[in-house]
Amino acid sequence: MEQKNWHQMGTSELIDMLSISPEKGLTASEAAQRLEEHGRNELSEGKRVSPIILFLNQFKDFMVLVLMGATLISGLLGEYLDAITIIAIIVINAVLGFVQEFRAERSLSALKELSAPTAKVMRGSEWVTIPAKELVVGDIVGLESGDRIPADLRLIEANSCYAEESALTGESVPVGKHAGAIDDEDLPLGDQRNIGFMGTMLTRGTAKGVVVRTGMNTEMGKIADLIQQTESMETPLQHRLEQLGKLLIIVAIGLTIMVVVAGILHGQPPYGMFLAGVSLAVAAIPEGLPAIVTIALALGVQRMIKRKAIVRKLPSVETLGCASVICSDKTGTLTQNKMTVTHVWLGGRQLEVSGEGYEPVGSIFEDGKAIDVKHDLSVKRLLQIGALCNNAQVVKVEAEEPKRRKSKEPQEEWVLKGDPTEGALAVLAAKLGSSAKSLEMLYKREQEFPFDSERKRMSVVVSHQGGRLVCTKGAPDLLMELCNYVLWDGKVVPFTQTLKRKCADAGEAMAQSALRVLGLAYRDLRTTDKCDSEQDVENQLVFVGLTGMIDPPRREVKDAIATCRRAGIKTVMITGDHQLTAEAIAGQLGIMPRGGIAMSGKQLEAMNDDQLDRLVDNIYVYARVSPEHKLRIIKSLQRQGHVVAMTGDGVNDAPAIKAADIGIAMGITGTDVSKEASALVLSDDNFSTIVAAIEEGRGIYENIRKFIRYLLASNVGEILVMFLAMMAGLPLPLVPIQILWVNLVTDGLPAMALGVDQAEKDLMQHKPRTSKESIFARRLGWKIISRGILIGVCTLGAFWITLMEAPGSADHLMKAQTVAFATLVMAQLIHVFDCRSSRSIFHRNPLQNKYLVLAVLSSLLLMLGVLYIEALQPIFKTVPLGFREWCLVFVAAGIPTFLMGIGSVMSRSNKNKTQSKTPYRPQTAAR
Ligand code: ATP
Repeated sequence: MEQKNWHQMGTSELIDMLSISPEKGLTASEAAQRLEEHGRNELSEGKRVSPIILFLNQFKDFMVLVLMGATLISGLLGEYLDAITIIAIIVINAVLGFVQEFRAERSLSALKELSAPTAKVMRGSEWVTIPAKELVVGDIVGLESGDRIPADLRLIEANSCYAEESALTGESVPVGKHAGAIDDEDLPLGDQRNIGFMGTMLTRGTAKGVVVRTGMNTEMGKIADLIQQTESMETPLQHRLEQLGKLLIIVAIGLTIMVVVAGILHGQPPYGMFLAGVSLAVAAIPEGLPAIVTIALALGVQRMIKRKAIVRKLPSVETLGCASVICSDKTGTLTQNKMTVTHVWLGGRQLEVSGEGYEPVGSIFEDGKAIDVKHDLSVKRLLQIGALCNNAQVVKVEAEEPKRRKSKEPQEEWVLKGDPTEGALAVLAAKLGSSAKSLEMLYKREQEFPFDSERKRMSVVVSHQGGRLVCTKGAPDLLMELCNYVLWDGKVVPFTQTLKRKCADAGEAMAQSALRVLGLAYRDLRTTDKCDSEQDVENQLVFVGLTGMIDPPRREVKDAIATCRRAGIKTVMITGDHQLTAEAIAGQLGIMPRGGIAMSGKQLEAMNDDQLDRLVDNIYVYARVSPEHKLRIIKSLQRQGHVVAMTGDGVNDAPAIKAADIGIAMGITGTDVSKEASALVLSDDNFSTIVAAIEEGRGIYENIRKFIRYLLASNVGEILVMFLAMMAGLPLPLVPIQILWVNLVTDGLPAMALGVDQAEKDLMQHKPRTSKESIFARRLGWKIISRGILIGVCTLGAFWITLMEAPGSADHLMKAQTVAFATLVMAQLIHVFDCRSSRSIFHRNPLQNKYLVLAVLSSLLLMLGVLYIEALQPIFKTVPLGFREWCLVFVAAGIPTFLMGIGSVMSRSNKNKTQSKTPYRPQTAAR
C-alpha cells in the first residue's frame, strides 16, 4: 500500500510510522543518530563571498587601478625600484583592506548566528530548548503564540490555534489549525490545517506537533530561494560616507591635476610630477574610510553583545545615538518578573501569605492568625483555580555552580518553567497543599483558551468525576464583567453593584501598593453546555477572589532612568497592567515627574490623534493598553519629532516594534515574531541594557567622527603641502613614495585605533543628536579644515627653512624632504591624540587607549626605520636627521596642536562669559 500523506494520518498511525512516544519524545542518542543520517534542519544558505574573491576584490578599487597604471609606466620607463616599491605598497594595502573587510564580514555573520532561532522540544521526557537546526524527524515540538514554526510539523494538539502562512501561501489572514486527520489526498497547502509549516508563524494559541520534514525537504525548503531575504546591513551614515568618498575623489583628482600642472609649469620633470600626482591622489582619497566605519560599527556591536544587547539591524546602531524617548514594557523589563503572591482577597476577607521566591513553603494568615486551608472552602477553590488554569511548573533542580561553591555543599533550588504570573499562583497552591500534581489525578484538562495580552485572561475547561468546570483568571476589572455571581462567605450569591464596588476597591488598594492583581473565577458546566469558543465558556462566571503579587523593580533600573534623564532621553512606561500598579512602580523608579500624566488604554481610545499629540510629551505611563495602542503612541511621538525606541514581546507587538525607530525585543520572554521585527534584542530583557546600548551607539558615532576628523585633516594637510609648494615654485616637498608611506602607515593604523576609542565621560550628559545632523556638525568641518591647513603650512615651513640653508643642492633637497616627511608624520601622530576629545589634547589621558598608543609607537618606529636603516634610505629617498633638524621637526609638528589648544581655550572662555550673562538653562532636556 502507498504511504498516506502526513495530513491524512491519525495520531496513532503517525506515532507508529515514526516510532516515537509523544510523552517521552526522542532520546538524545536517537536524535543524534537521526541528525547524523538526515542532516541539519537548515535551508541551504545563499552563496558566501570566499576569502580569495574578497582579496581579489581589493584590486578592483579605482585608486588601486591608478596605482597599477603608474607601476606599469614606471616599469616601462625603466624605473624598476619605483615600480617594485609601488607593487609592494599595493599588496600591503590590499592585505590591510582584506583583513579589515574579512573581520567586518565575520563579525556581521557572527551576529546573525546569535539571533538564530530555537525550538522547544521534548527530549527524553523533558522539554528542552535547542537550536532549531538540530531538530530531526520524529521530534515533538511545543509551540506558543508568537513562535516561528521551526520545521514541518503534523499537529497532535492544538488549542485555539492560528498560523500566519503568508510566506508560503500568500494568504495574510491567519488560518485556524487543528490536530485531526483530513482524509483528502490532494490538498493544497493552505487547506492542510493540521500541518504547521516551517517558517510560518503561530499567531494565537498553543500547539504540539511531530516533526515530519526538516531542512530542504520542507515546503519552505522547496521555495527556499524566495525567503533568502537579507536585512540591509548598510547604515545611512555608511551610505553618506560613500557619497562623500566619491565627492572627495573628484576634489582630490582636481587638486592633483592643479599640482601636477603647476609643477610642470615651474620646470619640474613631467615623469616625477606624474608619479607625485598619482601618489598624491591615492593619499588624498580616504579609501579606507568605509572599511574603518564598518569595523567601528562591528566592534561596537561586539561590545554591545557583551553588554547583553544584540543588534539585528546594523543601521539601528546609528539611530540608537539619536533616541530621545524609550517606551518600555513594565513587567520583566523595568521589574524583575519574579512574582510572589503576598496578598489574597476573598469575598471581603483580607489574607496575607508568607514565604519568598519559588520555594513552596509558607502559610496564609487572616488577622495575623494562620488559617487551616483544609476547612476553608473559599480559599481551597481559589487555590484550585490558580493551579488548574496554569501552564507553569516550579521544579527543584541542583543549584548553579557559584551558589554551590559558596557553601561547598551540593544545594538545590526551585526554578520556574513558564510564565512568572502563573508560577506565582502555582507556588501559592503548592504552599497550601493544592499543588498541580495533587490535582492531576482528580481533574483532566479538556480545553484551553490561552492568555493573550489583548484578552488579558485565560480559561481552561477541566473534567472531574462530578462533571466539568471552567476556571478563568485574568485582569480583575475585565474579568468582573464576565461574572454574574460571587463567592461570598462560602456561598455563591449574585454579584451586585455594591459587591462589585467592594471588589474593585480591594483590587485598587492592592494595585496602589504596586501589587500585580489577578482575579480568579469559575463555573460548573452542565452536560449540555457548549464549550467550543471563549464566548461559550467565559460568561456567567462566579467571581472567587483576587491575588496580589509583588514584582520588585530591577535594582539597576532606577539609575538607568536617571542616566536617561541626564542624557535628554524621556522614559515612558507602557503596560498591560492596572493603572494604579503602573503608577506606583513608575513612582518608585522615578519615571514620573511632577505634573506628568498617567493614562489608561480606554482614555487613549477616547482621544483623537490631535488631542493625543497635544498631550503626548507629558504622558509618562500608559496602563491597561493593548498592543495596537502602542502604534498610536509611537506615531504621535514621532510626529513631535522624537526618535522612539520601543520594547515589546508579544506577537501583537510586532507592528509597533517595526514602526519604532528602534524596535526592541526581549531575548528571554520575547516571541520569535517580535524578535524578527526588532532591530535590537535584549538578551537579559533588562531596561538598563537599552541605556547601555544607547551609550554604545553614541560612543560608536563619536568614534566615527574622531577618525573622520583625523583622516580628513591628514589628507587636507598632505594635499596642501604639495599644492602650496608647487604654487610657490618650490621643489617637491615629499617624494611620491613618502606620500604613499604616510597614507599607508601614518593614516591607517591610528585611525583604526580611534575607531575603538573609549567614550568621553560626559557622553550621556548631552541631549541626543538629531537624526538629520551632518557628520561634520558641531564644528567638526571647521576643525578638519583648520587643522589640515596648519599641518600643511607647518610642514611646508619646516621644508622651506631646511631648504633655504643650501638652496640648489640636491643632497640638501633630500634632507629638506626628509624633514618635511618627519614633520608631516609627527604632526599627524600628535593630532591623533587631539582627535580623542571634543575639547583639547590635555582633556584626556593620552595613554588610556592602548591600541592608539601602540599604533602611534609602531608608526613612529617605522618612520625611524625608514630614516635610519641604510637599506631603506635609497628607496624612500631619506637621509638621517641630526639634532637641529629634529628640533625643527618637533616645533613645526607641535605648532598646530598648540595653536588649536589656545583657540579652544579662548572660545570656551568666551562661551562661559556669554553663558554667565544669560540665565542658567540646563543643557539636558529633562522633559
Ligand atoms: P507589560 O505589558 O508591561 O509586560 P503585563 O505583563 O502586565 O505588563 P500583559 O502581559 O499584557 O501585561 O498582562 C495584562 C494583564 O493580564 C495583567 O495585568 C494581568 O492582570 C493579566 N495577566 C497577565 N498574565 C496572565 C496570565 N498568565 N493569565 C491570565 N491573566 C494574566
